Amino acid sequence: MAKVKVATDWLAACAGCHMSLLDMDGRLVEILDKIELTSSPITDLKHPPVQGVDVGILTGAINNSTNLAVARMMRKRCKCLVALGDCAVFGGIAAMRNSFDIRDALARAYEDSESTVDGHIPKSEEIAKPIKAKAVERLVKVELNVPGCPPSPDAIYFVLKELVEGRMPILKDELLKYD
Ligand code: SF4
Repeated sequence: MAKVKVATDWLAACAGCHMSLLDMDGRLVEILDKIELTSSPITDLKHPPVQGVDVGILTGAINNSTNLAVARMMRKRCKCLVALGDCAVFGGIAAMRNSFDIRDALARAYEDSESTVDGHIPKSEEIAKPIKAKAVERLVKVELNVPGCPPSPDAIYFVLKELVEGRMPILKDELLKYD
């Protein structure tokens, strides 16, 4: 049986959701028998092949123009797109700055931080433009939202296992419980 092709990427995220994926430990080896990880932020290949993959996993909120471009590319190349973790599902940490003016938030980071000396907000066409932080599904269609900060390795394993077996995962009980 052909392996299920899976790609992951991160947007405005810490690495926590991907670390939780790695925390599947031995089950990662088991699942890798059934899936081919085509790309991820923690492997050499960063983007899914243009021919597309079966499952895409996005962590993090859409927080700037680069995040939006990555989310759109993943949507285009992934048959089933999963938003993994509270940042991807609700906007999470990044969305906390939505109540501030973007210029003020940039000034706090680049000009006014306690460790800044003669700081300035960088300006270049090559730098991503900040936008209001949003959950992934606010800007691209997703097939599945998996909440948690981060979702537990058990929940991630369940999701992957169900998808590999051709079922849409239904998370409940302990898999939706997090402290
Ligand atoms: S949901 Fe939590 S662990 Fe995942 S990227 Fe956001 S802050 Fe990090």
